[in-house]
Amino acid sequence: MENPFDNNTLPDGGSKEEIVGWLRARGEERAWLFAQAARIKREHVGNSVYLRGLVEYSNRCAKNCYYCGIRRSNPRVRRYTMTDAEVIEAARYACRAGYASLVIQGGELSSTRRAREITRLLEKIGAATGNSLGITLSLGEQPRETLRAWKEAGARRYLLRVETSNPALYAKIHPNDARHDFQKRLDTLRHLRELGYQVGTGCMIGLPFQTLDDLAGDLLFFKEIDADMVGMGPYVEHEETPLYRHRELLLPPATRLDLALKMIAILRVLMPDINIVATTAMQALDKIGREKALKAGANIIMPNITPVKYRADYLLYENKPCIDEEAEQCKECLDMRVRLAGDEIRYGEWGDSRHFARRTVEKTGDEHAGNDQKHLILHALNT
Ligand code: SF4
Repeated sequence: MENPFDNNTLPDGGSKEEIVGWLRARGEERAWLFAQAARIKREHVGNSVYLRGLVEYSNRCAKNCYYCGIRRSNPRVRRYTMTDAEVIEAARYACRAGYASLVIQGGELSSTRRAREITRLLEKIGAATGNSLGITLSLGEQPRETLRAWKEAGARRYLLRVETSNPALYAKIHPNDARHDFQKRLDTLRHLRELGYQVGTGCMIGLPFQTLDDLAGDLLFFKEIDADMVGMGPYVEHEETPLYRHRELLLPPATRLDLALKMIAILRVLMPDINIVATTAMQALDKIGREKALKAGANIIMPNITPVKYRADYLLYENKPCIDEEAEQCKECLDMRVRLAGDEIRYGEWGDSRHFARRTVEKTGDEHAGNDQKHLILHALNT
């Protein structure tokens, strides 16, 4: 096979057909792909791994995505929302542990009440930690004004996975109603960019009905919207979801994991300086899945710091790892795992997306960048 990444085609090379070819790669070709990804990762983001303490804030959700264990219509889920005090304690723990960044993730509620709750929470976290944490939100589609208020209250990154960039596949894995509108998701991603967030997105890999063409399209979509960070993971089924009845269409877990690793490797080649998450779903399919993801090109890990009493109620998919480990155990385990993968955790550093920093410099130049942005840019470029 001809190497699509050869002959100075980096980092822009790679048509959809070529990417499909690489998703099929085996043996020497596969090894070559992973070697390129490892080299490019080293050159552009080094062997540094940045941590984001993950707080699973609430499993209340207005949506009914067919693949998700905490979908609104699953009656077996015990619903919860963490108290402000619990989130702040988790934020303090993230500071003490040197995680430097926090992700507040939850189901999608776009009520005014939820908007105010999160604004208040962001302000309290900022006050309790001296604004020392880089905060990512992952709370689904929200009105533009809500996103603006959250940004002003201290959020700097937002993770909104598109799940699939193919509208036809999107329609198969979501109910067909106004709440699950593909275009609205794209619009929200655009609003996030316009509001100055570092924008994260991602997809599921190995869904029923999904083709390699779809996956190649996802990678090109990330490039097209110029994502700053990407979190992709293998699709892991959940028995109490509608998509479960199509499980006979699934690839075996090892093949799904391998496909996910190739997706990471190709993305690292296509977008050398973005942040790529080694997702927990990798670990659900393989005990050392996250370490494999780091070797394939990922550089971000999101250790779970949600209080243990809530973890079993935030099961997006089955076999989710670490649901009964306290945060401290997770930390020790992570240290060792990352070292085994040949990388090093950068404690105390935000690890903002270098891609975002470069684009901001190119777009604004120093004289137009606000103080906050300058700090961010210098921080990202110097780490
Ligand atoms: S994937 Fe997100 S939006 Fe969809 S049901 Fe689950 S928590 Fe809600």
